[in-house]
Amino acid sequence: MLIDSHCHLDAVEFDGDRLAVVERARGLGVGTIVVPAVERANFAAVASVCREFPGCRPAYGIHPMYAGRAQKADLDALRAKLAEASTVAVGEIGLDYFVAEPAVELQGYFLGEQLKLARDLNLPVLLHVRRAVDAVLAQLRRIVVPGGIAHAFNGSRQQADAFIGLGFKLGFGGAMTHPRATRLRALAMTLPIEAIVLETDAPDIPPEWLGRARNEPAELARIATVLAELRGISVDEIAEQTAHNTLAVLPRLAESAL
Ligand SMILES: [Zn+2]
Repeated sequence: MLIDSHCHLDAVEFDGDRLAVVERARGLGVGTIVVPAVERANFAAVASVCREFPGCRPAYGIHPMYAGRAQKADLDALRAKLAEASTVAVGEIGLDYFVAEPAVELQGYFLGEQLKLARDLNLPVLLHVRRAVDAVLAQLRRIVVPGGIAHAFNGSRQQADAFIGLGFKLGFGGAMTHPRATRLRALAMTLPIEAIVLETDAPDIPPEWLGRARNEPAELARIATVLAELRGISVDEIAEQTAHNTLAVLPRLAESAL
């Protein structure tokens, strides 16, 4: 079984054909999909998608790019959603220094408060990290959470090792399929296999063969083939090992995934 550890299945891009999208994924062996929320306004949509489609499990959080319109009261709403038994992680949370807004301080505030929630509720976190690896690592050293996933990882080997040392797995997906992504492909080839989980981030980060088209969770099957080729092992081994890694870091997912 393949696990898509990060897919925005609730996104409007899937409103027209969500059932077909899920069936295509299932047909290619993608049996479990983690659906992270990005702000309070979409908690209900994430919950409803996960209720409707077996194998989909929610994470709830405030994404750094949505910190500008988040309120402190949203953290109380978040705490309530995190207490639900179906929730597998706090996410998607993190820092994005690629964008000029929201301000760094505001992003940092919401990341810190959400890490505290993860710590207090003993939940792993799903991290969005762009141009901000060291700042995120600094927060993780200050507020210790039970691991998680650095989603769409794109840093150095040293930064990868720092995440691994803090109990994190690294999410690999469509970006790895681009031949010019030499540093990322080298990491996919050489990192300990135990540290790697697979993801699509659909509808975003389309793999190379899709051009600019909408990504979807079924693409995880071919993404797994790319990783298998890079590592010189069978796609079955990749599927088994990455599913194992995902369940190890998201224990609540293991309760329902198999
Ligand atoms: Zn995402």
